[in-house]
Amino acid sequence: NQRYILAERPTGMPDEDHLQLEEAAMPEAGDGQVLLKTRYLSLDPYMRGRMNDSASYATPVAIGEVMGGEAVSEVIESHHPDLSPGDLVKGRTGWQTHSVASPDALYKIDTGLAPPSAWLGVIGMPGFTAYVGLREFGQPKEGETVVVSAASGAVGQVVGQIAKMKGCRVVGVAGADDKCQHVVEHYGFDVCVNYKDDDFEDQLKAACPKGIDVYFENVGGKVFDAVMTLVNDFARIPVCGRIAHYNQTRLPEGPDRLIPFMQQILVNRLMFRGFIQSDHNELLPDFRRDMSQWLKDGKVTYQEDVVEGFENTLTAFQGLLQGRNRGKLVVKVS
Ligand code: NDP
Repeated sequence: NQRYILAERPTGMPDEDHLQLEEAAMPEAGDGQVLLKTRYLSLDPYMRGRMNDSASYATPVAIGEVMGGEAVSEVIESHHPDLSPGDLVKGRTGWQTHSVASPDALYKIDTGLAPPSAWLGVIGMPGFTAYVGLREFGQPKEGETVVVSAASGAVGQVVGQIAKMKGCRVVGVAGADDKCQHVVEHYGFDVCVNYKDDDFEDQLKAACPKGIDVYFENVGGKVFDAVMTLVNDFARIPVCGRIAHYNQTRLPEGPDRLIPFMQQILVNRLMFRGFIQSDHNELLPDFRRDMSQWLKDGKVTYQEDVVEGFENTLTAFQGLLQGRNRGKLVVKVS
């Protein structure tokens, strides 16, 4: 059994000193439990937050503990009537090649609806995040302009496709030309702008001739600043993520912009709404019904970035925080 232990809390980018790969004894399944072999491990931006010892919506990973995370695994030994060897399940089993769990902490996946890895992406947590954030808090209407950042990623690609189905003009923002090209060609985004271009602000303005009605916020930083100059009255801003700041060690220098920002919220009657997908689990049945239909009808497609080999987990995670992934990042463990 191989596993990654949180040995030390990172400041800035996590590395081998913080997350140590070690050999451990094979876990043993007790009464009512199953032994699992990890097939695909999901890597997600929120994991960076779990490495910090700061107040958040979830408890941090403790020092010396296996790094947390969701995976699709195969049951290889069962001491419970509900699951049999060969079954595929998803659960929060962490960064390890084998684990032990009780069936009530696992969800048996239906590979007839989508392949195993997709249960960590388009029909899993990131897809659900896009669905909840847009439907509940973005509330896009036909003809409106929806902007989404980290547009080619696990969440962004789904946000854009749902917004297109709603009849919106969809503008993506991403950090590479090939990512931009991909979302336009494969997901039907109207335009996508690379925020690393020198004239990014001008390009975004040109892409949104009628202003911005919904901004699905995934990144923060300069993208957020540029969007805020273009929002319309009554714009909705679901605040999903702020990845540009996850490795930040201190606040940037510069004037305090809180007063004009609050003024803009008032004058433009903006609605900001932070949300965490897991608070909305009552929508999971709706989501799974809609998404499986969309996948079947070809209305939603998706891109995965599959990294081979458990030993490459940390490098792949570092890449996620630097924009190296192309689509939903998963590690193929076995
Ligand atoms: P992605 O698949 O989009 O991967 C992360 C991407 O973020 C990178 O590929 C990169 O794309 C972009 N990025 C990385 N660093 C920066 C930076 N400094 N500035 C701007 N962009 C950056 O990840 P997800 O789709 O899984 O997650 C997207 C966002 O959604 C994250 O902020 C995440 O925390 C959040 N989230 C929130 C949830 C919730 O319940 N609220 C649940 C799931 C995710 P690029 O090349 O375009 O910069």
